[in-house]
Amino acid sequence: MSQFVHRDGLLHVEGVSLNVIAGRFGTPCYVYSRAALTAAFEDYRTALATHGIADRALVCYAVKANSNIAILELFADLGAGFDIVSGGELARVMVAGGDPDKILFSGVGKNRAEMQDALEAGIRCFNVESASELEKLNEVALAHGVRAPISLRVNPNVDPKTHPYISTGLKTAKFGVPIEDAPALYRRAAELPGLKVTGIDCHIGSQLLDPAPAAEAAGKIVELADQLAGDGIVVEHLDLGGGKGIRYRDENALSATDYLAPMLKVLAGRREQLLFEPGRSLVGNAGLLLTQVETLKHGTGKNFAVVDAAMNDLMRPALYDAWHDIVKVSRGDKPSAARIYDIVGPICESGDFLGQARELALAEGDLLAVMSSGAYGMAMSSNYNTRPRAAEVMVDGNEVHLIRRREQVAELFAGELLLP
Ligand SMILES: *Cc1c(COP(=O)(O)O)cnc(C)c1O
Repeated sequence: MSQFVHRDGLLHVEGVSLNVIAGRFGTPCYVYSRAALTAAFEDYRTALATHGIADRALVCYAVKANSNIAILELFADLGAGFDIVSGGELARVMVAGGDPDKILFSGVGKNRAEMQDALEAGIRCFNVESASELEKLNEVALAHGVRAPISLRVNPNVDPKTHPYISTGLKTAKFGVPIEDAPALYRRAAELPGLKVTGIDCHIGSQLLDPAPAAEAAGKIVELADQLAGDGIVVEHLDLGGGKGIRYRDENALSATDYLAPMLKVLAGRREQLLFEPGRSLVGNAGLLLTQVETLKHGTGKNFAVVDAAMNDLMRPALYDAWHDIVKVSRGDKPSAARIYDIVGPICESGDFLGQARELALAEGDLLAVMSSGAYGMAMSSNYNTRPRAAEVMVDGNEVHLIRRREQVAELFAGELLLP
């Protein structure tokens, strides 16, 4: 059931109209639905139950998709684990009440301080991405008198058939180690006294709509697990990563049950625990970016609607040429004529657009919703052009909770220093 529907001519999130939210919190503003976030997590829970693996699987939300601490708190309360990629994300998860025993630490460039913090927190596993990281983590763990639980992120070299910027499992990717090199690295890891081998990890890419590549990757992981067992290295878990795609426009996004089915067929009868790291599919469709039309420019070549949100708020269109539906909050108020608009921000870059060639009947002051902006929206935002970052709110039924205050301009240069 969609939590984003027009009622009485106004777009609502659950029980609250976006007009009310704009009036109370201003624009631009990210708006999330608690019910939609919960439903997205429940979709995974249903999948695990349907496939009979609820007692040996864990969903670890990929924090980088949207790291607001209220969202992390919600997922922690629902029983989620977390996949982090920095010491900063670790700090957020801890503040949000996440269980350290359900934290996975991914990323190609973990530094010693981050390793140390994660060891002190007692995280579940480090997803190690290079030979050098194995040695470094071993040293840090020994200095602390502990053993670091590790899996190697292997690169199964399958083509996820997604945008090259979000394709991560090919041989040419900077991520992980080639699967051919994994057995030797695992033997090395098993020798190192500061490490404890606990799993195998992979993550092949993002916005995956076809479940076949993930199943193919799982097949290669299983082969590796069996090969390692032959070497006397027995892993406790297999981490299949994240990547399930969502609907932005007309994509056929599968339920978690259907998406995971081919992969779980490959994994049937295994004894290892199964870990998943979904990001986008837990938050993407559960949020929108609310913005107001500042200026209309009806040129000879093109029409522009300049809105108060920009690429610093939502970078995906500029970065990936991503498409987000853009809808008017108020429907059918005045019968102004529709035109074809580029929806652009105030930033001094030609790439600063949220949508191109959209047919809309617009007046200055209109509110627009940039849909499906819950993932890689606020998380990728910046202060480019000294623009304060947007407010974030979470709707829960008829209530609205502010979960991040709008930034103030003075905060943006508070850490800067004039010359002595
Ligand atoms: C980004 C990332 C994820 C989440 O990917 P989604 O496509 O958002 O599901 C999971 N694991 C790792 C290692 C990642 O880098």
